[in-house]
Order: sequence, then C-alpha cells, then structure tokens
Amino acid sequence: MIIDGKKVAAELREELKKKVADLKSTYNAVPGLTVILVGEDIPSKIYVKNKEKSAIEVGINSEVIRYPANLEEKALLDKIKELNKNNKVSGILVQLPLPKHIDKRKVIETIDHEKDVDGFHPMNVGNLSSGYDSSIPCTPLGCSLLLKKVEKNLSGKHAVLIGRSNLNGKPMTQLLLKENCTVTITHSKTKDLKAECLRADIIIAAVGIPKLVKGDWVKKGAIVIDVGINKTDSGLVGDVDFDAVSKVAKAITPVPGGVGPMTIACLLNNTVECFSKAQSK
Ligand code: NAP
Repeated sequence: MIIDGKKVAAELREELKKKVADLKSTYNAVPGLTVILVGEDIPSKIYVKNKEKSAIEVGINSEVIRYPANLEEKALLDKIKELNKNNKVSGILVQLPLPKHIDKRKVIETIDHEKDVDGFHPMNVGNLSSGYDSSIPCTPLGCSLLLKKVEKNLSGKHAVLIGRSNLNGKPMTQLLLKENCTVTITHSKTKDLKAECLRADIIIAAVGIPKLVKGDWVKKGAIVIDVGINKTDSGLVGDVDFDAVSKVAKAITPVPGGVGPMTIACLLNNTVECFSKAQSK
C-alpha cells in the first residue's frame, strides 16, 4: 500500500474548511495565521507561499510578513510581541532557518505558547512530553495521522525512529508513546542501524540522507514513513529506497506526495485549534 499523503492532506483541508465556516458563523471571526519570513532562502520562500495558499483555501485569514536578511533581532522580537497581543492573530510562525545573527531560541520563546502553531515553544514541548494538551509540531503530527490511516491501533508496536531532531524525532517519540508503542530512537552514533530497523513494525526516517533505508533493512509487513526530502540529480528523493522497500513493506509513504503535504495541512489544523481554544477561554 502506498500511503497517499496528498489525498489525506486534501481530506484534512476539506474538514478544516468546514470547521472554519462553522467557527465563523459561531464567533463571527475566523482563525488568523501570521507567518514571518526573514531573508531570501529559496526553499523557505516556497514553503511560505504554499502555506499562504493553503491557509486561504480553507478560509484562514493569512498574513505573511517579509523582512530582509539584515533585520535586527530586536525588531523581530518586538514584532512578535505585537502579534502576541493582537487578538486577530491566532497563530504565529517564524519560518526557519533564520539568519545567523538572530537567536532562534529567543525567537521561539518570545512567541506566546498559545499561538505557537509550530509546537516548538518549551511550554508546548514540555506539555507534549508530559502527555498534556499542547500544540504538536506539524510534521510528526502529519506522520501520526498517516500511520493511523494504515493501522488504527498502534498499541504494542515497535517503532524505530531514525533521527532525533527537535523538529521530528523527539516529538514523534512522544506521539508514539501516547499510542503505547515501544519506541527506539536512533541517530548518527547508533552502532547497527540496519539491525535496529529490522526489529521495527514501524520505521520513521527523518535524517536527510537519500535512500539510507535499504530493502533488506525492513521486516516484511512493516509500515515505513519517509520524512526525508533530498534534492538529487534524479529529482526529490526520501531517506528510504522506495523501490526496494515498497516490495517488503506493508505500507509506505512516497516522496514527494507523502509526509510533505501533511505538514502544511497540520499547520492549518494547529491554527484552527489555537483559535478554538482562544475562543472557548
Ligand atoms: P536534522 O535536524 O538534520 O536531524 C537529522 C537527524 O538524523 C539527526 O538526529 C542525526 O543524528 C540523524 N542522522 C544523521 N545521519 C545519520 C545516520 N547515518 N544514521 C542515523 N541517523 C543519522 O534534520 P530534520 O530537520 O529532522 O530533517 C530530516 C529530514 O526531514 C530532512 O531531509 C528534511 O528536509 C526533512 N523534513 C521534511 C519535512 C516534511 O514536511 N516532509 C519537514 C521537516 C524536515 P545526530 O542527532 O546524532 O546528529
């Protein structure tokens, strides 16, 4: 089974569109998402454009603030503080990476955690790891929704995560623990990655190395979620050797068209959630 992330993301956007329409008729207001882009990073510009387009499609009030790369850190922090106070703004996202002279940690911590649609604020990270209600980082949330399309009950499954980043591996661990999976987290210092993968019922690869996961690394019937996006001479590829692994896996996400579309749909989902929580306070 090839897990069609495009289709699942389109279904989620459709649901969100209805939710936004309901919220509008209840509160006479719609969720607002403000994205801040600093500098000229090409992939970031593309992501931001796609986020804006998708937000508008579901009825979210979308605003993009663009700054030059030489923006002073203080000016960015002041803007975030202003947005924190603006009740028309339900969600704030500062597109990463930021220019080197801006402290990413300070930026993340300045965003009101109740408007943190990326789920990177320490309050949300802590709440997620404590099993409390929190904003969930969009890519892991997307992965878990895709997994649920294949298997509703993940209890007792052995999940092997490749990569331990704050963006992917770590929050994914918390989501899988919530589902009662047994979780192994691997990284660049793991001794025998193939042996770890061969024990997995679920593999989630978020590394950034093209086709790292080979066909003979995967147990027959495993579910494989490929987060990686790698530009190669033959186009975009994931961290999984799709052709080889799809012959043994029970289900697998393609790249492109797997996790990628879910990330943006989950950002919209988080924006709607932030708005709903703010209204019901
Ligand atoms: P990252 O911060 O660079 O983290 C990469 C992780 O992979 C690290 O934990 C690193 O280990 C581990 N690693 C590196 N080499 C390894 C090896 N040989 N064996 C096992 N683990 C290894 O990357 P990221 O931000 O999580 O992104 C990972 C990939 O996902 C990238 O391709 C990125 O483009 C993609 N991505 C896709 C989406 C999407 O929407 N589909 C969203 C975000 C990211 P150490 O911790 O030991 O260094």
